[in-house]
Amino acid sequence: MNSEEMLRRTIAKFVDNEIIPVANDLDEKETFPRDLFKRLAGMGLYSIRYPKEAGGSAADNTHFCIMCEELARGSMSVAAFTAMQCLMGTDFLFKYGTPELRERYWRPAMRGEKVAAFCLTEPGGGTDLAAVTTTARKSADDVVITGYKTWVTNGPVADFYTVLCQTDRSKGPKGFGFFFVPRDTPGVVVTRKFSKMGTRATEISEVIFRDAHVPREHQFGPDGSGAALLNSKLEEIRVMTAALSLGLARAAFDASLRYANEREAFGRPIGKYQAIQMKLATMATEIEASRLMIYDCTRRMDRGIPAMKEASMAKYFASEAACRAADECTRIFGAYAYSNEYPASRFYRDTRFLLYGGGTSEILQVIIAKELGL
Ligand SMILES: Cc1cc2nc3c(=O)[nH]c(=O)nc-3n(C[C@H](O)[C@H](O)[C@H](O)COP(=O)(O)OP(=O)(O)OC[C@H]3O[C@@H](n4cnc5c(N)ncnc54)[C@H](O)[C@@H]3O)c2cc1C
Repeated sequence: MNSEEMLRRTIAKFVDNEIIPVANDLDEKETFPRDLFKRLAGMGLYSIRYPKEAGGSAADNTHFCIMCEELARGSMSVAAFTAMQCLMGTDFLFKYGTPELRERYWRPAMRGEKVAAFCLTEPGGGTDLAAVTTTARKSADDVVITGYKTWVTNGPVADFYTVLCQTDRSKGPKGFGFFFVPRDTPGVVVTRKFSKMGTRATEISEVIFRDAHVPREHQFGPDGSGAALLNSKLEEIRVMTAALSLGLARAAFDASLRYANEREAFGRPIGKYQAIQMKLATMATEIEASRLMIYDCTRRMDRGIPAMKEASMAKYFASEAACRAADECTRIFGAYAYSNEYPASRFYRDTRFLLYGGGTSEILQVIIAKELGL
């Protein structure tokens, strides 16, 4: 068995035994499951992408996406907070943080002792990042952060935030910078968690920075490097979100297939009717297409080949396919899909998250068109 199969088996076993049985409960409680968060750290999942010298597993994009896919098959909430802890919540801290910050925050985050969050989106918009208004003003000895971030995954439970700020408004996106802000910094205000449609075991809130002072060493990268840092992660973010989509589509398909074999109408299992068979055939085909696109993309990335078009296509296709799969699942389950006792409702609600994270479908189509030279 190769390392990809071994990883898939290990995560799948944990998901089948420890996550799927509690996924609906987690969703109902609408609370960040701290115990589970710590257990995933114990399995070394948060450090999976980081180098071995730092205590990680040096997983490439293919291995990382396998992990994300399997977790999302169990619970999109769990997959979402894990992905945040592995990638955007901690990546810049690891790469550009001072050795002291890494010891105080990154290492405990890998052990599941601190929770990470990433703040880009503002009430004025998420897609148009050029409109970011949060500012970082430099004084002689520190940086003062002022602004308003919203839709912050892990916001209510996070110990630290990686925050996109404008350092020089006259330069537009060339004046962007990322800053590290610990939650206990005076001036950091975390609002109440949102009441939301899906990924309900992931807590989300606004985070407000009211003249929050941080040391100058809390800037990640040189002045004006924010847009370049973000762009350097877009392929990874998109293909990861595609993998989350694939996991959820598989969960919807598996549940639908089981139900189609069990549920009888007019004296036969509903899976014997062509109308239901066609739904399942389409779901299976789109799942296979998503899988091929995602792992073709990760293998390119793992060989160092640029893959912005492929990652955008994979995210666009797989997230829309997951929405269609969850929609069909709610039809196959009939009225039982409407009850939160069955997972079909959770799948349907959770898919909507996939439409926004990692770029909306509309914006991905714009990017794909640009890659086509239009
Ligand atoms: C569950 C969840 C978790 C999230 N977690 C985080 C997080 O941790 N950190 C964070 O910073 N953000 C987070 N977000 C926010 C997410 O990144 C944004 O929702 C996303 O970027 C879209 O921004 P918006 O919602 O403001 O939509 P808008 O940008 O206002 O877009 C609204 C609509 O207009 C369309 N549109 C916009 N511009 C164009 C254009 N040029 N051409 C065509 N169509 C266009 C969009 O596709 C969309 O349909 C999260 C969101 C959700 C739902």
